[in-house]
Amino acid sequence: MEPGPDTLRKVLAQERALGFQDKAMIGGLDAFLERWRETKPEGLTIPESYKGLGVRERRQWIEGALATLEGAPAAIDKKVDAKPVSKPRHSNKTPSKPKPAPKEDSPDLDSPVTALKGVQEATAKRLAKLGVTTVRDLIYLFPNRHMDFRAMNPIAELTPGEDQTTTGSIWEASVVRLGPRRQGSKVIIGDDTGTIEIVWFNNTWLGHSLKPNQQIAVGGRVRVFRGQKVFENPEYEVLSDKASTHTGRLVPVYPLTEGLYQRMLRNLMRRTLELCIGKVSEFLDAGLIRRRGLMPIKQAIARAHYPEDEEVKERARVRLAFNELLLMQLRVLARKREWQLGQEARPIRTDEELERRFVESLPFPLTGAQSRGLGEVLGDMGGSKPMARLLQGDVGSGKTVVATGALLQAVASGAQGAIMAPTEILAEQHFQTISVLLGKEPDSLWGNEVVHSFDSALGRPVRVGLLIGDIRQGVKREVHRQIAEGAIDIVVGTQALIQKEVEFRDLALIVVDEQHRFGVMQRAALRQKGASPHLLVMTATPIPRTLALTLYGDLDVSVLDEMPPGRIPIVTMWVKPDQRKKAYEFVREQVQMGRQAFVICPLVEESEALQTRAATKEYERLSDDVFPDLRLGLLHGRLNSGEKDEVMDAFRRGDLDILVSTAVVEVGIDIPNATVMMIEGAERFGLSQLHQFRGRVGRGREKSYCLLLADNPSEEAQERLDLMTRTRDGFKLAEEDLRLRGPGEFFGTRQSGLPDLRMARLTDTKLLTMAREEAERAMESDPYLELPEHRGLVAELERLGGGWSIGGNEA
Ligand code: ADP
Ligand code: MG
Repeated sequence: MEPGPDTLRKVLAQERALGFQDKAMIGGLDAFLERWRETKPEGLTIPESYKGLGVRERRQWIEGALATLEGAPAAIDKKVDAKPVSKPRHSNKTPSKPKPAPKEDSPDLDSPVTALKGVQEATAKRLAKLGVTTVRDLIYLFPNRHMDFRAMNPIAELTPGEDQTTTGSIWEASVVRLGPRRQGSKVIIGDDTGTIEIVWFNNTWLGHSLKPNQQIAVGGRVRVFRGQKVFENPEYEVLSDKASTHTGRLVPVYPLTEGLYQRMLRNLMRRTLELCIGKVSEFLDAGLIRRRGLMPIKQAIARAHYPEDEEVKERARVRLAFNELLLMQLRVLARKREWQLGQEARPIRTDEELERRFVESLPFPLTGAQSRGLGEVLGDMGGSKPMARLLQGDVGSGKTVVATGALLQAVASGAQGAIMAPTEILAEQHFQTISVLLGKEPDSLWGNEVVHSFDSALGRPVRVGLLIGDIRQGVKREVHRQIAEGAIDIVVGTQALIQKEVEFRDLALIVVDEQHRFGVMQRAALRQKGASPHLLVMTATPIPRTLALTLYGDLDVSVLDEMPPGRIPIVTMWVKPDQRKKAYEFVREQVQMGRQAFVICPLVEESEALQTRAATKEYERLSDDVFPDLRLGLLHGRLNSGEKDEVMDAFRRGDLDILVSTAVVEVGIDIPNATVMMIEGAERFGLSQLHQFRGRVGRGREKSYCLLLADNPSEEAQERLDLMTRTRDGFKLAEEDLRLRGPGEFFGTRQSGLPDLRMARLTDTKLLTMAREEAERAMESDPYLELPEHRGLVAELERLGGGWSIGGNEA
């Protein structure tokens, strides 16, 4: 059946809710949009390539498309009138030229900005670049910072290098030439103590319009130019101008875009606030506001623009940040609710005898943390609520064993289990590891089998299957058939698992490894493979609590905070450029002792192709010049999975001494005989990523080493490298990463799902915890937010984009 326009609308709303990351559809939006090219709803254009658009362009297109779709005749809805429209609306009665939007005295918050007096199409376009299309967007466009116009310095006391403000009367104002092709304005002002020059580059208008004897306030950094103090491009206010007199206060400084000027925006904002702030309605209930001592919404918006002082400004920010965090947490909890309340899961009662046999069959005793973790997982699986649990544990903490114990119980109950890995290499490794942990003879490893069948603790043969994109079509079809028939008990795979051709007979448990590579949507898709399966998410990325609440807030958490005993700590060294030769000698010594080494090539941001070229060059250099007598292999993202396997297998078998690789070995690879991890360009990687690389060694009985090379690290990079050598605690490194690089960078570019927070900071633990508690409180008493006191909240959630109904509702 052809999907209707409603599907398109839902998907676009979803994409908006997910932050325009091209994540609303698996594999990206383009394939989906392609279907709409022929039969597109009237007035809609489909971009050549959505993927190719920048986030801002994506946003623009989606907002426009949604406005069009919501106005489309298919969805007759009176509320449409209140929605923003991208174009001026036509009046039915006047068939003549389209009229501009009517100007009102006090426009509705949802009307386009053109409804404001003085805002023409041109200004509206510029505002749109800042994400502002409606009046409401405008009043939510908060200043980047404030200028302090309260503490005025006498001109003689202005100190170079600092942000300061002063007032004076204009002595002289003129347009000047400031370079061969540069013009600007120059103004000299004076007070009782002296004079100072002010220069605005590329602005001739001020030189014309400012007049001698006007009082003016200026604020900005004071510099010294040819021995003279000067203000360059400062903020300013003409003090005689009543409406914009801001002496004695903090003056907002807004983000700008070409053609949009600070003063203009400031005046527009001030007028709009005066006109429209009364229309903003409080959406939190009075009890909550009192309980948490929050500033009411109207006040918070007004004060965020025009605070009396720093304290008021902070209280306003806290209120607005709380809004963002609360809504985010409500979405997260709604996801959990959909997972757990939507359908009942089949309880999988633990077969304790089987569990005991499984644990005893392992070549090592479980750590305390593993036993506890497995206990928590099995406890959840025994209930009729579908499990939604995160198993978090540093690299090498032994998560796979826990997952295997859980999968075994699912199989024992007569159902199927699945485990999904982020890469084919990892899927294949899990395929082998899990089979061996369940009792397969390890000596037949690394064949071409895609189904392992062997006797297990179950007392009957168990069948484990591999499903990755790259296996032969015929073989794949056979695996699909066996999964559908239930002949395969446990399926290990990549995202190939969630393709629509894959149907399970009876899927009861899904394990997702390294979840942060998967979006919420993939999780939802996978879920639909089973009636209402239990979900276990595993991650080795030690996520600080604040981020965990954001990204995984819908999951319960088990932590493996204990390493298997007997691990010898990895020695981490920062190798200075002049010690490179010694480092190579060291690698050679290790190889001569029978060990193996990884060499990671520096990160090349631009493209996979460049990355591959760099890795290939490094491989050739090392093979020809440095280690001509050793056996080297090369691994990069451009190899197809057969080639990757070949290299990995050779390394695993010990047929290679050194594996030169790009970041593809970052997660999960388990080669116990490798003892050296040498990382080139270490300064370009984040701490958490370096920690992941380091976790590739130290997995066997031998002492292992991590060598960090950095040719010209910045001061900040030096700080990071130094920390790497001092701490082995992944959590601490993650916290530090977050602090040093901010949440956007934290997971690298692959990360999705970080909400667009304007006033909130993810490092603001206290406020986040508060928002979490309030969200829980609301949803506990009223899981679907149907009570009258939650009406405002729901409206706000809906207004901010479709995210509210994510989870259960999309079919
Ligand atoms: P993770 O996925 O958490 O990084 P793995 O599950 O890959 O860790 O386990 C790392 C290594 O430790 C594997 O070689 C595994 O066999 C081994 N291992 C797991 N649990 C234990 C344990 N309790 N005692 C000793 N070795 C263990
Ligand atoms: Mg692992």
